[in-house]
Amino acid sequence: MVNAIIFGAPGSGKGTYASRLQSKLGVDVIATGDVFREIIKEDTPLGRKVKGYVEEGLLVPDEVVIEVLQERMAKIPSGKGFILDGYPRTIEQAKALEKITKIDVIIQLIVPDWIIIERLSARRICRKCGEVYNLRYLKPRVDMVCDKCGGELYQRSDDTPEVIKRRIKVYEQQTKPILKYYREKKVPFVEFKTESLEMPPEVAVEEIIKGLQKLKLV
Ligand code: ADP
Repeated sequence: MVNAIIFGAPGSGKGTYASRLQSKLGVDVIATGDVFREIIKEDTPLGRKVKGYVEEGLLVPDEVVIEVLQERMAKIPSGKGFILDGYPRTIEQAKALEKITKIDVIIQLIVPDWIIIERLSARRICRKCGEVYNLRYLKPRVDMVCDKCGGELYQRSDDTPEVIKRRIKVYEQQTKPILKYYREKKVPFVEFKTESLEMPPEVAVEEIIKGLQKLKLV
């Protein structure tokens, strides 16, 4: 059982690796962005409250995020580990997490900007199940159709080069203090560096698992 947080810029492969680690390690993956998109679909008072923030790409206020996370974490079966994706994004959120559970490891994905831009411009996502594809490197079997569920694939409106550059900057500014926070707390890190565009997800995932094994976490 491992409790991990995965950090990586948009386009670092974070979502792809997390979903593979989920089945390989038998952990739950909690991606706060996905959780919010689900909540918005439900059209409840909470959904209406977070909608504006998510659509503008702004951080949802800490007290809301923390409550939503707490609820979601309570659903993890006991004895099962988890990987958090998209949380914490502020020190306040990191502190709140500490009160809920212990974090064993930080998985940090390091990817140069040019690779991120290449990848994200070709990214397509399933409307139905959220599976992620890439028109160049991770193609669906049938054009614009999800291999897993047959859903329609779409391109996120923020997956364009100009917006991507801005998102990388924002990511770095937001994440720096949080990584520093965990380093100071002496939480171990598993770093994975991507140096080529052709890095197959299986290799990345194997390397990450090796890192976790070295730390005797899996
Ligand atoms: P992105 O890769 O574009 O940042 P995510 O799927 O991780 O996308 O998140 C989508 C949106 O959900 C964010 O822009 C933000 O509005 C909200 N969100 C997700 N996680 C958090 C968080 N930990 N704190 C505040 N807002 C969050």
